[in-house]
Amino acid sequence: QTGLLEQIKETIQQKNVELLHLQFVDIEGILKHVTVTAEQLDDVVGGKIMFDGSSIKGFSPINRSDLYLLPDLNTFAVLPWTVEEGYAEARFLCSVTNPDGTPFEGDPRNVLKKTVERAAEKGYTISVGPELEFFLFKADEHGNPTLELHDNGGYFEPSPKDLGERVRLEIYRALKAMGFTIEASHHEVAEGQHEINFKYADALGAADNATTYKWVVKTIAGKFGLHATFMPKPVFGINGSGMHVNISLFKDGENAFFDPNDANQLSATAYQFIAGLLKNVKHFAAVTNPLVNSYKRLVPGYEAPCYIAWSASNRSALIRIPAKRGMATRVELRCPDPSANPYLAYAIIAAAGLDGVEKGLTPPAAIDEDIFHMSEERRAELGIDNLPENLGAAIAAFEDGEIGRATLGEHVFHEYVAMKKDEWNSYRTAVHAWEIERYQGKF
Ligand code: GLU
Ligand code: MG
Ligand code: MG
Repeated sequence: QTGLLEQIKETIQQKNVELLHLQFVDIEGILKHVTVTAEQLDDVVGGKIMFDGSSIKGFSPINRSDLYLLPDLNTFAVLPWTVEEGYAEARFLCSVTNPDGTPFEGDPRNVLKKTVERAAEKGYTISVGPELEFFLFKADEHGNPTLELHDNGGYFEPSPKDLGERVRLEIYRALKAMGFTIEASHHEVAEGQHEINFKYADALGAADNATTYKWVVKTIAGKFGLHATFMPKPVFGINGSGMHVNISLFKDGENAFFDPNDANQLSATAYQFIAGLLKNVKHFAAVTNPLVNSYKRLVPGYEAPCYIAWSASNRSALIRIPAKRGMATRVELRCPDPSANPYLAYAIIAAAGLDGVEKGLTPPAAIDEDIFHMSEERRAELGIDNLPENLGAAIAAFEDGEIGRATLGEHVFHEYVAMKKDEWNSYRTAVHAWEIERYQGKF
């Protein structure tokens, strides 16, 4: 770590970094930061920068409000768009600590660290490769989002239909300058929808990357007069945006999901992990699919799952096993969407899979038929259950299960449930345009 700190100091000198942003996320995964000067680096690294935790939703009560930021030196990055403009700012992602230096339990990053430690006790490292899709909308002259999509291109479509190419190029450049390895970039299925894929990392690194990615995508889009949104279903009738989570366990440097001798080349651990995901998914959907709007994506016909099943290839299933094997063997969980807090999402997904491994669970048979076009009777026959249909049902299942409280810890669990109940009640009691249209004239 001292070597790393020396490098950081050198970069600050060389690039003339004036300001440091200390970033963290709240319980919903919304990025926050406080800015200090580069001269304060020693205090920053020593975890001495304080903030008012009572002003962050769900963090701390007013009478115990002082919290501290402890930067993760691995997340140091100079902001490329400041360099282009002729000066330099940098950022760190931080964990939050109590005044006595202990980890603050309301911090989502600390929640994920706990799950990572729990896995490590059993000899596992968790590897996560997320795929975050987003939409580009035109912004008005004040920079506010409009309802107009930026283009009407489709899957893998090049310019001139894809108007996002230039934006994606600049996003790629910015992420690369911040240390990302970018693997692919393309127009997605829906009009105005895009995806840029970055390399998998350990769970904490992947959550840090997802957080950074969302920020960079929004920032660069803004420079083009556009608004990027990670809202899961911004437009009715076309695909929504997912955050597929590719996940695997490693033990002693080997992929613990790979077994060349099995029919699917999957290990017993992989099957148990899949079984854990299937068993717990209803109870963790409130975290991986956190918004009222999330459940409008999870409907048949849009490449997003709504039934609880797994398959080696089927894109209508909740869990797919991508064709890669060997070190790249992984399961792809397809329900999460990019509005989820990545720290909490990866923690609860990993915990759910590990639950299956610990208990030695066996998954039901794989489903290779198209589940979207299966009759209800056939689904019942195969024992295929549904994901929660709305946020209300998801919160009820979240409270009912054990995985939520056990993974998030008492503080975050309690705040999360309160927050989400509030959100659901606000939606449930509001009168929507759909109702006026449908009922006002008729009744
Ligand atoms: N956009 C789809 C979803 O909502 C996923 C499309 C894909 O397979 O990449 O999950
Ligand atoms: Mg995609
Ligand atoms: Mg995918």
